[in-house]
Amino acid sequence: MPQLAEAIDTALTKWDAATAGALAGSEAAGHALIVSHEGSDLVGTCQCGRRLGRITPGRPLDALAVPWVRHTSTDLTAAAIRATA
Ligand SMILES: [Zn+2]
Repeated sequence: MPQLAEAIDTALTKWDAATAGALAGSEAAGHALIVSHEGSDLVGTCQCGRRLGRITPGRPLDALAVPWVRHTSTDLTAAAIRATA
């Protein structure tokens, strides 16, 4: 029954893709940008604990968002490389 074997193969491939997607999602969920007040300043921290920077009120949040995007994209790329290695 080659068709059945093929169907099982397809199902397993789909499951693998779903698992990989779920793992990637949990990895991404662990890196939320947190902005909190520290004195009169705004401090950006990643959910994983990484300090991203400190800005005075009125400064653009880009100063915190840009390093966060760099941090998450670097970490997620590294995780993807680890997963395929
Ligand atoms: Zn992080």
